[in-house]
Amino acid sequence: MKIRLALILLAVLLAVDLGVMVARADWWIVPGALLGWYLADMMSGAVHMYMDYKPCREGIGLDTLYFYEGSRESDHYIKLRDATFAQLGPFERLVFDFKNHHPRPDALGRRNIVRLIGSTVLFATLPFTALLTLVCLLLPLPAGVIAVGITFAIGTTFAQYFHGALHRQDVPWIVRALRATRLVMRPSDHAHHHATLTCDFSTNNGWSNPLLNRVFAWLQRSGRLPPEGLEPAR
Ligand SMILES: [Zn+2]
Ligand SMILES: [Zn+2]
Repeated sequence: MKIRLALILLAVLLAVDLGVMVARADWWIVPGALLGWYLADMMSGAVHMYMDYKPCREGIGLDTLYFYEGSRESDHYIKLRDATFAQLGPFERLVFDFKNHHPRPDALGRRNIVRLIGSTVLFATLPFTALLTLVCLLLPLPAGVIAVGITFAIGTTFAQYFHGALHRQDVPWIVRALRATRLVMRPSDHAHHHATLTCDFSTNNGWSNPLLNRVFAWLQRSGRLPPEGLEPAR
């Protein structure tokens, strides 16, 4: 219920921003919108990179869950999972979810859209959009700058949805249309990330991957992202 209210509020705020942008429209809207879409892709990659390599908390059984060899439908696993997750805060749960996505990628594709985007909206894009709307109404922001904010907010909101869609067969027409125009990436563009876990972290359209791959290589070389963080320590 809280998430659905947040989604409605987000849609209202974006509609206000869109109205202000149209009222001040000029040709800068086009490059602004593309820049915002690029920055949203970069945000998807930066968050993904950080979450993949941030070490999980040790000593609470996350390694047991991660390396569990029996059925994940079994009562034993479900009890173990619930007891372990009860000890985690929402952020730690997200960190684990990113790592757990690598050996079991299709689970992300089975999640519904509200679950996929809920925490991003509540903790990131709703506060960002509220601030954008306030600034739009108080200051004479040019249309191109508002366009950056709007497409950044939309792209960031749907980042995990686009990622989930890369791991399912049946995607709605809008995703297929966005893929046809390369505004959203195709599953084949994401395969290299899963094959290596050391590159192509961005999952909206991959436009920022060439830059982020260089950043990642530098972070690893300088020891700031040790590879051990990729899996819960045994
Ligand atoms: Zn990953
Ligand atoms: Zn993936």
